[in-house]
Amino acid sequence: MDYDVKGHLRQVRSSLPDGVRLVAISKYHPNEYIEAAYAEGQRLFGESHEQELRTKHATLPADIEWHFIGHLQTNKVKYIAPYVSMIEAVDSLKLLREIDKQAIRNERVIDVLLELHIADEETKYGLAPDACRQLLADGEWRQLSHVRICGLMMMASNVDDPEQIRREFRTGRQLFDEFRAAYFADAPWFCERSWGMSHDYPIAVEEGSTLVRIGTAIFGPRVY
Ligand SMILES: *Cc1c(COP(=O)(O)O)cnc(C)c1O
Repeated sequence: MDYDVKGHLRQVRSSLPDGVRLVAISKYHPNEYIEAAYAEGQRLFGESHEQELRTKHATLPADIEWHFIGHLQTNKVKYIAPYVSMIEAVDSLKLLREIDKQAIRNERVIDVLLELHIADEETKYGLAPDACRQLLADGEWRQLSHVRICGLMMMASNVDDPEQIRREFRTGRQLFDEFRAAYFADAPWFCERSWGMSHDYPIAVEEGSTLVRIGTAIFGPRVY
């Protein structure tokens, strides 16, 4: 292997304060890269395609915790439901219902995050703040006994202006506080704020991230 995964992983880790967990985003990278990070003690990885995750889950150590971070089609939930540790990008009640259904089939509770759409880009998935408010106010999610909403996930706009990125993360944090007070005051598991990628995670951490999703800074550029 010609890429120094271990060295980059150590650098990223040493830049994270206590209380911020690293999700190593391994999509499009081969098993040997993941194994190098694993040998350094990394156990939490993120993937965004069901097929790729399936192959990796079947061939890599069983104690890896997998977060699904991509857009998940409802008809794919059944494939990851037996083993996925968290589904980070839930942006509809329909998807929540399907996750609940598959979690029941597997006799487990699946942790999820609600994905916010705050960034400028129109193409990104996620719930606009009012749509997220509406979903929570509607209350049906309370009946889904086998999904546990553990917090929020978001991506900032892909721009160079650090102040815009900071403003967006702040908006995410305000929404988190609002929802926690309104719906999750007695739910200590509602504690995760998944924001920050390779190019913006230092800002995300300053703005209260608890999970950073970092790929390129650890594994190098992806070859698609
Ligand atoms: C690919 C991806 C990341 C990681 O991006 P990098 O820029 O490689 O750190 C984080 N979050 C999501 C949702 C992604 O799809």
